[in-house]
Amino acid sequence: SLTLPKPKEPRLITIANQKGGVGKTTSTVNLAASLAIHGLKVLVVDLDPQGNASTALGVEHRSGTLSSYELLIGECTADEAMQPSTANENLFCIPATLDLAGAEIELVSLVRREYRLADALGREFIDKHDFDYMIIDCPPSLGLLTINAMTAVNEVLIPIQCEYYALEGVGQLLNNITMLRQHLNRQLHISAILLTMYDARTNLAEQVATEVNDHFGDVVLGNKIPRSVKVSEAPGYGQTVIEYDPGSRGAMAYLDAAKELATRGDYLPSDESGPIGLK
Ligand code: ADP
Ligand code: MG
Repeated sequence: SLTLPKPKEPRLITIANQKGGVGKTTSTVNLAASLAIHGLKVLVVDLDPQGNASTALGVEHRSGTLSSYELLIGECTADEAMQPSTANENLFCIPATLDLAGAEIELVSLVRREYRLADALGREFIDKHDFDYMIIDCPPSLGLLTINAMTAVNEVLIPIQCEYYALEGVGQLLNNITMLRQHLNRQLHISAILLTMYDARTNLAEQVATEVNDHFGDVVLGNKIPRSVKVSEAPGYGQTVIEYDPGSRGAMAYLDAAKELATRGDYLPSDESGPIGLK
């Protein structure tokens, strides 16, 4: 049953932060599963050679499996690389294999190297499958893979870990998004910031949350993701936390964050110059 609003246009979202371990992959798969459980049709594109999103979604990703790598270098179509996820009947995934590790270098010499993913995931493909959301999980770098993810969408969601050095590198990410907006994709903007691994018992987490809210304002999702053992255990079972323990605090937090993301809609930039979505 459809219990969250279906977007008028498919929403295309890249989850990015060049810092590793901030919750990009965890947020990708759990937001995707949360939207899918509400009847929305969701595609996850795994662009990290580690393939952790593919693992959590129960999708085959041994080396040689048709994946985002073949898609980027033009050796297969999106239809050929797409697999159903075991997580939910409405959820699909284009997996990543270790073959993707060499792609940053291989892409350099290819035509339209910044738009390979956008070209392969054309509107025709999205419309044919009637996807409501496409969510792309990025590697922890700002190289050509992440650039390809950024030209294939209009929305960026930045997870920020409520820890020391939370904002380290975020300035650089913002500058990159501004440059991409100027030169490669005029539609690109930050439509959400998600605070992850929030531990309400520490002053530090509260300080980080306050700082991020003061700095970024309304674009920050009100729902924070708590640090929870269940969230970190789920991938070990090839599952999202939504399947692994739907009643856990972590699962509920992702369900709430997904609901917020879906009901408030896109946050468009207030002016031409900045990438930050405001309402
Ligand atoms: P990234 O994709 O940004 O590198 P991950 O999503 O892989 O980050 O998360 C890094 C690690 O932190 C993983 O081991 C993951 O299971 C764990 N983790 C992520 N979110 C949470 C959370 N809310 N509570 C506990 N552990 C988490
Ligand atoms: Mg990751």
